[in-house]
Amino acid sequence: MTHERILRACGLGPDVTQAGDHIVTTPVDGSEIARLKTDSRGEIEAKIARGAAAFEAWRRVPPPRRGELVRLLGEELRAAKAELGRLVTLECGKIYQEGLGEVQEMIDICDFAVGLSRQLYGLTIASERPGHAMREGWHPMGLCGIITAFNFPVAPWSWNAAIALVCGDPILWKPSEKAPLTALAVQRLVERAMSAFGEDAPEGLSQVNVAGAEGGQALTASEEVRIVSATGSVAMGRKVGQAVAQRFGRCILELGGNNAMIVAPSADLEMALRAITFSAVGTAGQRCTSLRRLIVHESVYDALIPRLKSVYEGLAIGDPLAEGTLVGPLIDAAAHEAMHAALEAAQAQGGTIHGGERARTGTPEGGIYVHPAIAEMPGQTAIVCEETFAPILYVMKYRDLDDAIALHNGVPQGLSSCIFTTDLRESEAFLSAIGSDCGIANVNIGPSGAEIGGAFGGEKATGGGRESGSDAWKGYMRRQTATVNYSAELPLAQGIRFDI
Ligand code: NAD
Repeated sequence: MTHERILRACGLGPDVTQAGDHIVTTPVDGSEIARLKTDSRGEIEAKIARGAAAFEAWRRVPPPRRGELVRLLGEELRAAKAELGRLVTLECGKIYQEGLGEVQEMIDICDFAVGLSRQLYGLTIASERPGHAMREGWHPMGLCGIITAFNFPVAPWSWNAAIALVCGDPILWKPSEKAPLTALAVQRLVERAMSAFGEDAPEGLSQVNVAGAEGGQALTASEEVRIVSATGSVAMGRKVGQAVAQRFGRCILELGGNNAMIVAPSADLEMALRAITFSAVGTAGQRCTSLRRLIVHESVYDALIPRLKSVYEGLAIGDPLAEGTLVGPLIDAAAHEAMHAALEAAQAQGGTIHGGERARTGTPEGGIYVHPAIAEMPGQTAIVCEETFAPILYVMKYRDLDDAIALHNGVPQGLSSCIFTTDLRESEAFLSAIGSDCGIANVNIGPSGAEIGGAFGGEKATGGGRESGSDAWKGYMRRQTATVNYSAELPLAQGIRFDI
């Protein structure tokens, strides 16, 4: 299928794809696929004002009715799954199966949010004063700015958008400059859902702002953007966090990871092998939850690592749109340079490297395809502590579980983690207060591929934000504690006497 047909199937004709000078290329073969119009600072500010005005109307719509809009969006996504999945693949290079999976995640979070729209529960609280009732309720917060990264161009938007919409917050999306086409395609689906929904969906309820980092900065600077949910690198999060804190706005940060797996002596090595491969080479190592560090017990090292190397040698690397491909391209030349530099550093720090070179046979001309690399390391050296957004798996040995957990937690990031073991004591220790320090901790499952029902996010340099399921919705609402006095007296709390 040609690029034009993929774009057209998502409703993106030349009026959109040839409207400006922001060049979008596909990592599949490096070719240009669109020239988009970008928003000026003034246009972004006008969108912020429209979003803030939409809040005045949207917060008055009852939550279950707001849920109906998200239900309609879920229907649009179901109908568009195949073509939107293909566009995700074209724009960011992940294989088509993963492109479809990303759209399925959007559908799932819409379903979750529809149910949630009838469950934005508060609390009743026991009052210490006679004739008093105390309760805690949740109210819409205001305009929610959503900044997204290139590697998951649409699912993280939906984790925010579906929840923010039922919570009563309008949304303004700043997609990655490397992946704005999927955002425009999704916005068309939102607009279709809005027109089926009716007049109580105000203009400006959902908007997209095509721009570079300066578009994100406009959101972080504006007092009108009450919540900024930002997905991307730690460096970006540091700037966003400071800018939003400066004006006492609310931030949800979903930043980089440096995810590890511990393979214990009792592990089912067949299962571990599959989990390692999917999570280390899937999306060509360009997932926030990609497996980057493998900490293997010395007693199973020789049974596991040679087999892993031979699986790596047989990986199908190539066109991500082609059936059977397991490893697609890197996003761009800068990603390849970062991978190359990391492998050189790993070697200089005592590592032995397998793979990592360019894959030129059977791969589309113009794209950057690499053989995923395994780096056997003498220990957790400086380069191992960094997130290099490429398929590099650092492998280390351990003898004692406490040491393995210390190694595991000894990096700045804290997103996802896992242990492969059939020993209950080990798995419970890993999940306990003295185990993994990450936001996500799995047993006998790799670190990537989370379900939407749980809260997603991580600690330390990963930013501390939570999105998606569980009670992450509370991040999109403001909490109100209310006390009602239905007595004819005015007792003060703590028994204070203040007679006049
Ligand atoms: P990036 O940090 O380069 O860009 C992410 C987004 O931030 C883009 O939209 C960009 O325009 C915007 N941005 C950059 N500087 C900004 C600023 N000063 N103010 C406001 N916005 C700004 O990240 P990337 O290369 O697109 O994505 C890869 C990174 O994202 C990796 O570190 C990966 O781990 C992380 N990521 C994290 C999650 C998560 O949920 N934790 C999910 C996906 C990706």
